[in-house]
Amino acid sequence: MIRSLRGMNDILSEDYERFTYFLQTASRIAQHYGHHYIETPLLEETALFKRSVGESSDIVGKEMYQFTDKGGNDVCLRPEGTAGVVRAFIQNKLDRKGGIHRFFYHGPMFRYERPQKGRLREFHQFGVESFGVSSVYEDAAMIMMVSDILNELGIGYRLQLNSLGCQECMPPYRKKLISFLQAAEEHICEDCIRRKSTNPIRVLDCKNGSCQEKYIDAPKLIDHLCENCAADFATLQKILKDNDIEFEIDTHLVRGLDYYSKTAFEFVSDNIGSQSAIAGGGRYDRLVEFLDGRATPAVGFAIGIERLLELIKMPEAGLEGYYMGAMDKEAIPTIIKTAQSKRHSDRVVVEYEPKGLKAHLKNADRIKARYCVVVGENELKENTLWVKDLQEKKELVIPADEFQEI
Ligand SMILES: [Zn+2]
Ligand SMILES: [Zn+2]
Repeated sequence: MIRSLRGMNDILSEDYERFTYFLQTASRIAQHYGHHYIETPLLEETALFKRSVGESSDIVGKEMYQFTDKGGNDVCLRPEGTAGVVRAFIQNKLDRKGGIHRFFYHGPMFRYERPQKGRLREFHQFGVESFGVSSVYEDAAMIMMVSDILNELGIGYRLQLNSLGCQECMPPYRKKLISFLQAAEEHICEDCIRRKSTNPIRVLDCKNGSCQEKYIDAPKLIDHLCENCAADFATLQKILKDNDIEFEIDTHLVRGLDYYSKTAFEFVSDNIGSQSAIAGGGRYDRLVEFLDGRATPAVGFAIGIERLLELIKMPEAGLEGYYMGAMDKEAIPTIIKTAQSKRHSDRVVVEYEPKGLKAHLKNADRIKARYCVVVGENELKENTLWVKDLQEKKELVIPADEFQEI
């Protein structure tokens, strides 16, 4: 028997209901914030991710499904969603056109990681990207959008917030941090000693407990923000407070790459163990330029869908649509024709095997249909339908041409 690959799951039955409910809810909310759906290929040139996610990252260094295709191109399955959207934005010359462009996407992403609970090799993300707005109000809108999505799904969260500064205030801060790390070198882990020269900001989210203890005293970027970054960060906090969104400042919430700036945020859940981040995002004003586009401010977020599924509180499912069946073979064409007349507006499930009334009612019950419609010899002769409303628990026989009215 051939099985699915390790870390790659089928999504079916109850999970599928949760999955589609999530996508419908998140897509509708993104549309309410003015975003349009965008779909980009699963396969891209490897160079795209090397330049955007960064060659030094674990994602690019260790986790990509990378191969040479039959034409000799170095390609890989996308490990995340933003790079492809930015590539599409530039390739379609929207950066030259100017103006505001708001997108949302969802689909599978691929990372060759060690599979564990809530972490798969093929996983699904829902993401939103906004191009052309430098105002911090857009950052606030991103956070409010995630909050709306989680609230509507009944998922509790904590919001963590930080500012990563800009090209003006980040470099002098980085210098301060490096001298702090030099003085603390004896007390920090080997990874952090290496990061000190490759990517010093990333030491702040080191998973090593004794490093974290040491970094309590590290200089904080939010104390060294330039005037503009400090004002934006204050505005962001005010808007969130005005809109009753609680947050914590987490000065160790950082991103490794230079094109990230200002707002960084993460939504975490305390109900899913150590893999607690359920959504993350922030501003990436320089990524479009990094990928050879015209400088365009941008901000976005992504939500990992699998991690959320079990947290979703599904609405009470009511009875819905029609189940239709025949008692005799001769009645089947009538059933099929009647079903067609309803499918433009409702779910209709047709049973092709003639059965007795009891068996049909049982089937209708199993698929949670509101109405069970059956045609037998009598109904066929008199051009009527036998209908049971399973919600109101009422049976009736109606002329076939009155069927549209129920
Ligand atoms: Zn700044
Ligand atoms: Zn460390």
